[in-house]
Amino acid sequence: MPTHISAPVPIPTLRRLPFLLLALGLSAYAAEGRPLLSLQPTIARPGDPVLVTVRGLSEAPTGTIGERPLRFYPVREGFQALTGLPVELAPGAVQVKVSAPSGTVPVELTETLNVVAAGWPSRTLKVANKFVKPPPPEVQARMEQDKAAFAAAFGQPFAPPLFGENFAWPRQGRITAPYGDLRTYNGKKQSQHYGTDLDGATGTPVYAANAGTVVMTRDNFAAGNTVLVHHGAGLYTSYFHLSAFDVKDGERVERGQLLGKVGGTGRVTGPHLHWGVKVDDMWVDGETLLKLDFGTAPPAVTQRDKE
Ligand SMILES: [Zn+2]
Repeated sequence: MPTHISAPVPIPTLRRLPFLLLALGLSAYAAEGRPLLSLQPTIARPGDPVLVTVRGLSEAPTGTIGERPLRFYPVREGFQALTGLPVELAPGAVQVKVSAPSGTVPVELTETLNVVAAGWPSRTLKVANKFVKPPPPEVQARMEQDKAAFAAAFGQPFAPPLFGENFAWPRQGRITAPYGDLRTYNGKKQSQHYGTDLDGATGTPVYAANAGTVVMTRDNFAAGNTVLVHHGAGLYTSYFHLSAFDVKDGERVERGQLLGKVGGTGRVTGPHLHWGVKVDDMWVDGETLLKLDFGTAPPAVTQRDKE
């Protein structure tokens, strides 16, 4: 089900209204010293990123989503933690618990996240046989090197967010394959799609979905020419199959900055952008990330402050 999408645009005021009303309500609570826990999205699917926001606390809380610990970082109006729901998670209720020792009375907050069935679409793809057969030793060795390079790039120390805005699409383009697609390659090998494919001609621009630091510019066997951007908050975005790089490792980028060009490098059936989002060590649905409202306030502490 291809969906037409648009270029990075500000969120319309009307869509922000509920958040603004919520924020106004929250300041009243905060003034009374009553902390408040909120979750996005309110109804989630397996593979969704989840944004946990706590307001009205003076010290960083600790917390869990299910059994998984949350890593909180300060934002202007409180604390946030970003995590994801495993793709294999069964539908049902997931408990989010937050506690803070601050003040005279310890604070315990709980909220329920309702997880509904994902209903992944499935499709059959044809690719070159070299991608389906067990790879020859030299390719296996190369893929091991790729794996190590990805692990190193994803091993950035946890940092507060490097972004102060919501996330934006990395390019204009039709979605040719959504996150979660179940795939059968040449009638044999099966896999799940952990990214969003956007169509585009070779050479068309690819932009950073948000501000961050480039932690990989590399030619990988399956992903092809790859850019990885670390955004802080345990969050990374990936841009696969590029035909050209327009950034270097270690470079700071802003939202909307040119990262590279669409291409057909790596394991592909044709030129397109595979856009991936990794948070808390899980590949999550980028379309949901784009809907998260971070409050668009600059983070209380940025990496630049520390440098
Ligand atoms: Zn893809």
